[in-house]
Amino acid sequence: MDGTSHPATPPVLILLGPPGAGKGTQARMLEERFGYVQLSTGDLLRAAVAAGTDAGKAADAVMKAGGLVSDQIVIDILRDRIAEPDCAQGVILDGFPRTTVQAEALDTLLIESSQQIDAAISLEVDDAAMVTRIAGRYTCAGCGEGYHDSFKIPTRDGICDNCGGTEMKRRADDTVEAVGARLEAYHAQTAPLISYYDDKGVLQRIGAMGPIDEVATTLGRVVTAATTT
Ligand code: ADP
Ligand code: ADP
Ligand code: ZN
Repeated sequence: MDGTSHPATPPVLILLGPPGAGKGTQARMLEERFGYVQLSTGDLLRAAVAAGTDAGKAADAVMKAGGLVSDQIVIDILRDRIAEPDCAQGVILDGFPRTTVQAEALDTLLIESSQQIDAAISLEVDDAAMVTRIAGRYTCAGCGEGYHDSFKIPTRDGICDNCGGTEMKRRADDTVEAVGARLEAYHAQTAPLISYYDDKGVLQRIGAMGPIDEVATTLGRVVTAATTT
């Protein structure tokens, strides 16, 4: 580094896409490959619900119904988490921002820490695929590894490939009723962020209808290019 250049700031990547697009699956793979930290507001909110915090109590019913939790709650949770030391490795935002208010709050937060968004990557899938993906989704209770009844089956039936755990769980909001509401919330409130980031010049679109590994290969290429230029 020469005397005039600034030290590189930790990469900030955003994964956009409807529920079931594969954000969580891909974020975990990126975390493993690049060492960035996955920040899933869905996971943080589910932890708050399980812990019975005030934020968790306020979020619980909204999440079960498939609505969006209030911006203030989500922004507060994200702000606290992103300030933790491990995030200095770089972060992959999975499921945040989901509204324009959240996107603007993120911009402010990043200005305060002299960081910038390297890429906002939109995983593009059609609505029909999303419903099938959500209906078959389950995760390991031990380590959070994601699985699918048809598309990602553990090598040994009922045993997590990642940690050997045998307790699998399904989410309370992965129901046919809630999926409709979640999809509606996505189109009304989150999809506009695609043009928000396009206008900033950081948007990348990736077709996410193919198999998990194929999407991961494309995504890896995009992330490498975005973080090395
Ligand atoms: P999915 O993986 O299906 O996209 P998430 O795990 O990201 O779902 O989120 C689950 C639920 O948590 C959402 O339906 C919503 O109720 C709430 N949630 C998560 N992130 C946000 C956010 N950024 N803003 C508002 N609500 C959120
Ligand atoms: P999101 O975080 O966007 O809601 P997930 O990563 O949880 O989505 O993926 C939803 C479900 O679909 C999971 O069961 C996952 O195993 C599966 N899945 C993810 N990506 C793909 C893909 N490219 N093809 C088929 N199934 C996928
Ligand atoms: Zn596991």
